[in-house]
Amino acid sequence: MAKVIDSKIPAGPVPEKWKEYKAHQRLVNPKNKLKLDVIVVGTGLAGASAAASLGEMGFNVYNFCIQDSPRRAHSIAAQGGINAAKCYQNDGDSVYRLFYDTVKGGDYRAREANVYRLAEVSNNIIDQCVAQGVPFAREYGGMLANRSFGGAQVSRTFYAKGQTGQQLLLGAYSSLSCQVQAKKVKLYTRYEMEDVVIVDGRARGIIAKNLVTGKLERFSANAVVIATGGYGNTYFLSTNAMGCNCSAAVQCYRKGAYFANPSYVQIHPTCIPVHGDKQSKLTLMSESLRNDGRIWVPKKIEDAKALQAGTKQGWEIPEEDRDYYLERRYPAFGNLVPRDVASRAAKERCDKGFGVNNTGLAVFLDFSESINRLGLDIIMQRYGNLFEMYEEITDVFPGDLANEINGVKYYKPMMIYPAIHYTMGGIWVDYELQTSIPGLFAIGECNFSDHGANRLGASALMQGLADGYFVLPYTIQNYLADQAVWPKVSTDLPEFAAAEKAVDAEMDRLLNIKGKRSVDSIHKELGHIMWEYVGMGRTAEGLKTGLKKMHELEKEFDSNLFVPGTKEGLNIELDKAIHLRDFFTMGQLVAFDALSRNESCGGHFREEYQTEEGEAKRDDENYFYVGCWEYQGKGKEPELIKEPLEYEAIKVQTRNYKN
Ligand SMILES: Cc1cc2nc3c(=O)[nH]c(=O)nc-3n(C[C@H](O)[C@H](O)[C@H](O)COP(=O)(O)OP(=O)(O)OC[C@H]3O[C@@H](n4cnc5c(N)ncnc54)[C@H](O)[C@@H]3O)c2cc1C
Repeated sequence: MAKVIDSKIPAGPVPEKWKEYKAHQRLVNPKNKLKLDVIVVGTGLAGASAAASLGEMGFNVYNFCIQDSPRRAHSIAAQGGINAAKCYQNDGDSVYRLFYDTVKGGDYRAREANVYRLAEVSNNIIDQCVAQGVPFAREYGGMLANRSFGGAQVSRTFYAKGQTGQQLLLGAYSSLSCQVQAKKVKLYTRYEMEDVVIVDGRARGIIAKNLVTGKLERFSANAVVIATGGYGNTYFLSTNAMGCNCSAAVQCYRKGAYFANPSYVQIHPTCIPVHGDKQSKLTLMSESLRNDGRIWVPKKIEDAKALQAGTKQGWEIPEEDRDYYLERRYPAFGNLVPRDVASRAAKERCDKGFGVNNTGLAVFLDFSESINRLGLDIIMQRYGNLFEMYEEITDVFPGDLANEINGVKYYKPMMIYPAIHYTMGGIWVDYELQTSIPGLFAIGECNFSDHGANRLGASALMQGLADGYFVLPYTIQNYLADQAVWPKVSTDLPEFAAAEKAVDAEMDRLLNIKGKRSVDSIHKELGHIMWEYVGMGRTAEGLKTGLKKMHELEKEFDSNLFVPGTKEGLNIELDKAIHLRDFFTMGQLVAFDALSRNESCGGHFREEYQTEEGEAKRDDENYFYVGCWEYQGKGKEPELIKEPLEYEAIKVQTRNYKN
């Protein structure tokens, strides 16, 4: 019989569900909070906010991260902003509208009740962060400023120049530090979770490696929360920080946690194009730039060829010969269509030969019109650090005046191309953010919860902080309410010993392969396979080939890997080898899911399923579900379990960004 998933969504109409939930919630008796320990793995925006909040509520928190400081979590990379339905612009925004835009942006593949709750708590996040002193941009009169992000026709994105993630993380870190000082949170920096320990079917602790000494240590708690980020680096080249990995999530998956919607991977349209085969990192140019930057390629193929040959420059092409293809195809949203739509449109132009750099894989993002209209000063106030970052990498400053044709001034445009950026899939969680393993919770990018098949810009920070500050601290209490009466689990239990032994044996195995290939060389090859066969455009044939190539490469990894050094002390190559082992599991999972989903939706584009205009063609009759995968062992196909989606408040229809 097919397994049934209980998503613990309370009954009743969608807007009432969170209220209903809180009304029936079981809270931990304040006296018992002192006795309850919670492990939080991760100190990005999700982990740091959760650890700080749980500490403040009275629980004993053990908070882990791989960096030397929580402030170095990948979340600091976030540039453009965070959404909230405050409606400060008086432009008709509302909780319902944010909810609706998010569900529509996700191509109707998100869980409705979760998204409504997210939209509801979005406003609290802004108040919380302002109270912490986060320096959001303000209008001249002192009000918080907003800008627009893709998939919305209102301005609801709060920002701190192009460093929003960093400022939000500093806010969360100050709250966390208060709790460290109050001895409610104990920080374990440069510790990596290697395994989750299950005792009698419940998550009771973790095995973590002290990355400096190399020693494995055991930690027990009443509940474990993972907030360990996404799996974008499976593709090797991505906008994610180099240290981002999916090992904690994959280890939970191996221990029985379902992995949901792995094929929903986000490819961001505005990244600095790949420029050679020695690169190990791609750089994002924030989506906020699409507020004032216009995306175009030449109308004439001979102009494109001249650009590719380097005999012509973008600023030499006059207005009438430019194809602002997003404005042409999607008049209602123009340059602010959602990311999946913008990425595919860029690929379509480049595939037709209109790419603008020497590889033919780039389009222009041009600020000439907005600089002429607003002046360079205003544009620099909005995007100064992004312009500087672009100049540092490419030696081109997008504010430099380059030409004047028929009285129109042209500035040097940026060149951009889509790249792997974010993963909507993740560990499956119910409405309480609990995984399919009791006592194990997942928050932030590492869970699958709110974005469906495509995330709208500025919604990841919103979700991470909603989970950490406002959702998990409530929902986890339902689980913890009766935990105080259970005896404390000792780390001497055989389950801890077995988990530690298995991790140790794995490290020995990797060190003893003693082959000839470095971790990076194999990872790079995996990335090529992923991009080629499991990337922006997928086909059944290509996915099968990709899976075959991944199996072969995994064999190469298992037999010809070379990891220098020993287990003792710091060994970054060994840590990377463990991550790569898990990227293999992840890559195959993405491909399995993509192969099983015979439709296109959001970031998952199967070329066989598209409309005549090249838009994603969903199949709601057969694929209106969350695809959850259960691990069956190495080399074996995982089993698919479906959580049917139910929509009450929103009418499911074909996405339309044209009018
Ligand atoms: C360049 C860039 C710009 C972005 N800009 C925006 C934006 O403007 N707005 C927006 O909403 N979103 C943006 N995003 C997305 C957003 O930044 C991320 O989705 C979000 O920060 C993820 O937060 P997180 O807390 O879930 O995970 P992360 O910030 O990735 O944190 C993961 C944490 O887990 C720890 N960890 C991982 N594995 C282990 C392990 N095994 N053991 C112990 N600790 C572990 C890490 O040390 C880290 O502390 C951007 C992303 C990128 C790449």
